[in-house]
Amino acid sequence: MIGPVANKEYVLKHLNVYDVKALKKYGQNFLVDDKLAKEIVDSISDGENKTLIEIGPGLGALTYHLLNKQGKKILVEIDKVMAEHLSRQINDENIDIVCQDFLKYNLENIQGEIVVLANLPYYVTTEIVEKLIKCPKVTQMTLMVQKEAYQRLVAPINTKEYSPLSIFIEYLGGAKVLKKVSRHSYIPEPHVDSLVFQINVNKRKQSNNEQDFYKITKAMFLMRRKTILNNLTSYVKDKDKAISLLKVLNCNENMRPEQLDLDFYLRLTDLIKRDN
Ligand code: SAM
Repeated sequence: MIGPVANKEYVLKHLNVYDVKALKKYGQNFLVDDKLAKEIVDSISDGENKTLIEIGPGLGALTYHLLNKQGKKILVEIDKVMAEHLSRQINDENIDIVCQDFLKYNLENIQGEIVVLANLPYYVTTEIVEKLIKCPKVTQMTLMVQKEAYQRLVAPINTKEYSPLSIFIEYLGGAKVLKKVSRHSYIPEPHVDSLVFQINVNKRKQSNNEQDFYKITKAMFLMRRKTILNNLTSYVKDKDKAISLLKVLNCNENMRPEQLDLDFYLRLTDLIKRDN
């Protein structure tokens, strides 16, 4: 790549060259603030033993700065036009460009730690974050998302949006906002502002049942307006057993899933696993 990409001239020119419009169906809002692009990439950790994955590189706004980072890099882009454009711009054996839906991309085969960077397409933000937090190899994620999506991801206890995802993010050590981003920093302009946040997973608490913890917490929220007893009964398929589990945990049967904290879901998982 010969020069910075995150500016209006570059983005408009290249959309013109390929005779394409930014695709709404792929959530394409291209970043046009190069100072911000550099700041975001500067905040991510790198190293020879790490694999840096960028999801949805688009025309390469963040990728341009990512090239200076140490480690193997993988760019996963769903849009063929963008992926082919990047393949022509980048000639570096340390970089793989994969044209695929990230939700179908297999993270299992990657060796060592994974660091993720993305200006996420809004239509699939939750699904992508869910995939990342469930992958034990991912040690850091730096993500640009719409402000409302972030508020949902970190919703506190006793709110409508408190969810297994927000509980799991808390479990991983929480998220930190690095930067607020105005809607004017994109082409085309979205209707709402965005922000960049980071999750550093090095605070992963010790749980021997991490995958079950997420699965069980999710099951407890399946019918979020019902009581914890109802949800637990559906999961263990035995009302008496559900009552006795809640008793051990000293939990009122009539509580709703959104009234219970991280510690409760961790203890519930351990108890269910111990019983099996
Ligand atoms: N990174 C570029 C930037 O900052 O200007 C583009 C960001 S744009 C918000 C989202 C990008 O993700 C687009 O390039 C879009 O084609 C791509 N994308 C959308 N859905 C995707 C998916 N499921 N897997 C991989 N890439 C996807």
